[in-house]
Amino acid sequence: MAISIKSDHDVQMLRRAAGLVGEVLAEMARRVQPGVETIALDRVAEEIIRDAGARPAFKGYRVGSEVFPASLCMSVGDVVVHGFPSAYQLQEGDLVSIDCGVELDGYFGDFAYTFPVGEVSEENRTLLTVTKQSLYEGISQAVVGKRVGDIGYAVQSFCEARGYGVVRDLVGHGIGRSLHEDPQVPNVGRRGQGKRLKEGMTLCIEPMINRGTERVTMDADGWTVRTADGAPSAHYEHMVVVRRGEAEILSSYDAIETALAQTHGTTPTPGVPVHRATAPEGAAESAQPASLAVSAQG
Ligand code: MG
Ligand code: MG
Repeated sequence: MAISIKSDHDVQMLRRAAGLVGEVLAEMARRVQPGVETIALDRVAEEIIRDAGARPAFKGYRVGSEVFPASLCMSVGDVVVHGFPSAYQLQEGDLVSIDCGVELDGYFGDFAYTFPVGEVSEENRTLLTVTKQSLYEGISQAVVGKRVGDIGYAVQSFCEARGYGVVRDLVGHGIGRSLHEDPQVPNVGRRGQGKRLKEGMTLCIEPMINRGTERVTMDADGWTVRTADGAPSAHYEHMVVVRRGEAEILSSYDAIETALAQTHGTTPTPGVPVHRATAPEGAAESAQPASLAVSAQG
């Protein structure tokens, strides 16, 4: 299937949808603390989304006979992605990835942030830092003249050089009038391989990075993805538009990190956009890996 190129109007609408996700995640930032039930956070999120005239994109999302039950994916500890909000109370030292998707006026927003709950271990703080920075390393490749494999290569090489496991079984994706569009955007790859990136493509880039093995398992609920060795995992996601020279990031962590600082005195996790001159690299198209889209199939 051809990868859609977005008009300026499309991009503006996607930015609005991303803005609503940002509002939800900023409110989550104010509320994430020890003792909070993750289902309570989900209720707040759904209210914000519906009050804005939008729809939670994950709630009711179907893969075969499995239906996702909530507005947010709440992935705590060794849960990589697609955890269910529940009566679980967040505990000091937890890492919780909160992934939010909305449909606003026919366009989708989808991005994620991993929050530290109270004080977290040095090892887990470093996991957050590396995962977030790897996202920006990937984004630095989302420019005209590069290929999808350059994004995966950037994420993978950054994380593996630091001893982390890069999840293969789930991938990023295009986004637009559908939550999951082509192309798939793996977090591993080879330079110069995969689909050619063109101006106006919109991508969700979302590294899922483990402190241990990259291997994952699926719970009996058909959704919850965990690390195979029980080690903690982190997940950050941004929505970007492929441009010449430098990708345009539609989602923002600013409101989230301002809220974290104001409410909890949390120092924002380091991890900043990479500004790097990029040169096109030529190579043949490779087959897309048979991995699964995030939220598309566990
Ligand atoms: Mg996504
Ligand atoms: Mg997401």
